[in-house]
Amino acid sequence: MSMDEGLPTPPENVRKPKVNDLGQHEIRCADCDCILLIMMKTEEIDFVNKFKVENCPKCKGESWLNSLVGKYFIAQAEGMTIKSMTFDEKTQVMKIRMM
Ligand SMILES: [Zn+2]
Repeated sequence: MSMDEGLPTPPENVRKPKVNDLGQHEIRCADCDCILLIMMKTEEIDFVNKFKVENCPKCKGESWLNSLVGKYFIAQAEGMTIKSMTFDEKTQVMKIRMM
């Protein structure tokens, strides 16, 4: 019989959630294929995120229009910096502009 048996396991909710557990998506430039952003899913919800990345730092191009369902944390890919994010009410598209 192991000494560890019977020890209480720390409850899940006190541990920091790992954002990568639900999956992550690389958002690439449609023109030069470099990785611009990494979207990390933090929650399974029905919300649809529509977004487009503009002003690729490498080629000044842009990404495709992306559509992801869930709650996401937006992380900048290595060497990438977000300049601004604007939500277009008409199209419901978030436009993310890079530096
Ligand atoms: Zn590009």
